Amino acid sequence: MAHAAAYDDFASLDVSGKRVFVLTGAGVSAESGIRTFRDAGGLWGDYRVEEVASPEGWAADAALVWRFYSERRAKAGTVHPNAAHLALAQFEEALGDRLFLATQNVDPLHERAGSRRVVHMHGELMKSRCERDHAPPFEDSGLYMDAASIPRCSCGARIRPHICWFGEMPFEMDSIGRALSNCDVFVTIGSSGAVYPAAGFVQRARSVGAKTIYIGPEQPDNADAFDECRLGKAGDAVPALFRT
Ligand code: NAD
Repeated sequence: MAHAAAYDDFASLDVSGKRVFVLTGAGVSAESGIRTFRDAGGLWGDYRVEEVASPEGWAADAALVWRFYSERRAKAGTVHPNAAHLALAQFEEALGDRLFLATQNVDPLHERAGSRRVVHMHGELMKSRCERDHAPPFEDSGLYMDAASIPRCSCGARIRPHICWFGEMPFEMDSIGRALSNCDVFVTIGSSGAVYPAAGFVQRARSVGAKTIYIGPEQPDNADAFDECRLGKAGDAVPALFRT
């Protein structure tokens, strides 16, 4: 059973010489003004998640899907990294390749804070790709608000958001698996522990003997798998998390 208490009841963790795996979820961006999935009650604005974040939704109404991601792209232009993103970028500076940062978020806030090696397992809002994977993903800040504006690949297929939708395979699972089997400390920040495979990473880290820590205002669904739940907002708890 996890030891759950306010984050400032715990001491900073000495991670000198240790390999650290950090998984972030929607909660790390909440203080930057991006709504979490849970806070939105499974709805993002006026959209139902299955209509805009599934291959079936794309097949049924690609223009609706692009309108949704275009609105999120426009929003991403107005938000800034918070103290948690900035602290993680500083930890990368100090730990170098002993820090592995994987995020479930598609927003660009880790990079804007200065993190250079971020594994976006659910894709990236500011990238697009060919729906037939004819060409690799590319940077794209375009806003496509109707069917006529959806761009085409040179192969003739439509360009889609570079996002892992429900029912699709997350990206970079091989490098994530290697990092999990090699870590001494595993930390999840701001993820409800309800979306797999990410919610299962803590078990894999535990199985190799890593110390496991959760950070967020409430205990996640998979709280039992953590040694400690440090309760609080990411912006307060993350800067004090490690001694490097
Ligand atoms: P979730 O919405 O299911 O859970 C968010 C968690 O963050 C909750 O447990 C909540 O208690 C916690 N939280 C809220 N405020 C916080 C704060 N200030 N500091 C720390 N934690 C806080 O999100 P999820 O577990 O990441 O999974 C939902 C799916 O939707 C994922 O694929 C996720 O990437 C995606 N999503 C992404 C974004 C984004 O890119 N920013 C936003 C919403 C949802």
